[in-house]
Amino acid sequence: MKFETKLIHAGQKADKQTGSVNVPVYQTSTYKQDAIGRDRGWEYSRSGNPTRKALEDCIAALEGAKYGLAFASGLAAGTAVLSLLKKGDHVVAGDDLYGGTYRLFEKVFRKWGLEISYADSKDPASFKKALRRNTRLIWAETPTNPLLSITDMAALAEIAGKAKAILAVDNTFATPYFQKPIELGAQLVVHSSTKYLGGHSDVIGGLLAVADKELYEGIKFYQNAAGAVPGPWDAWLTLRGIKTLAVRMNAHEANAFKVATFLRGHPEILKVYYPGLEEHPGHVLAARQMTGFGGMVSFELKGGRKAADSFFKKLKIFTLAESLGGVESLACYPATMTHAAIPEKERLKRGITAGLVRLSVGIENPEDLIRDLARALKA
Ligand SMILES: *Cc1c(COP(=O)(O)O)cnc(C)c1O
Repeated sequence: MKFETKLIHAGQKADKQTGSVNVPVYQTSTYKQDAIGRDRGWEYSRSGNPTRKALEDCIAALEGAKYGLAFASGLAAGTAVLSLLKKGDHVVAGDDLYGGTYRLFEKVFRKWGLEISYADSKDPASFKKALRRNTRLIWAETPTNPLLSITDMAALAEIAGKAKAILAVDNTFATPYFQKPIELGAQLVVHSSTKYLGGHSDVIGGLLAVADKELYEGIKFYQNAAGAVPGPWDAWLTLRGIKTLAVRMNAHEANAFKVATFLRGHPEILKVYYPGLEEHPGHVLAARQMTGFGGMVSFELKGGRKAADSFFKKLKIFTLAESLGGVESLACYPATMTHAAIPEKERLKRGITAGLVRLSVGIENPEDLIRDLARALKA
């Protein structure tokens, strides 16, 4: 099956009993057993639920993985990955990281004895240099948030393989439509399905795609033992969103290209970050390891915070909000919103300045979007 067909059919066969073409919402916590020790494959919905299973099978197929697992949020999925580690193990993570993942490492797992260090997301040699004897996991996010840097996944897979560490890639920004980390050597793919996979800003969720049986069994055990699972409605909504992923991603990308091209020529703007632009430092690598550049565009206003305040006030179609990946266009101010958990000095060092704006370009008419930006940028 080709990708677009998998979106609509993988894990989602017509219901055996009724023929329902959509997977039913199995809104049940428990299942009748026919005799002691004889169930029909389902016992209790924390352990397994048919609607959730359809979503899990679907993400596995989309990522080219053997196994899929669904969680109550992207961070719950990330926590499940970290459950494979123990006190004294070491993680190397890219430095341009989703703020919540950074907080999970620093404020939750460090105090339980996990060692974490950060490497330059753009430079595989920096990951290699950060390795220790006890490194068990390399964690990469590409493209990164909010600067859209690109990490060389094949190079990291080689480094991880030699170090006998697991390579996990957060594929939230690109989605399996544009990028398949397992094909490049990753063992684990992490998603916040809250974003493009769900696609309609109406559900929080997380997904893992797992290449290897042993890793799968470890995480599956944790999923049931700790219990951060999505309910059947959330699984169903996510599945419904996934069906249109290909058409949405094409529209997001086409619009993002137009928006980036408009912004790049604008006199109020210092710098535009979009991996689809030739001048982006990660452009060649992105073109090699991705099949598209996605819908996220960041830029830096010349006028800093003052210009940003005026810009956000004048927007009419782009909505000032956290999150990304929905059909509607959103604009966010990373310094005080998504990346507020990172100390200011560290933020500035990474390029998250007072003039930085991040756009999640939606699938509205691009002329309306550009008109909205043009009006808001008028000094
Ligand atoms: C949003 C996000 C997460 C966290 O996902 P939640 O569903 O909000 O828990 C992790 N990684 C990236 C790249 C994200 O954008």
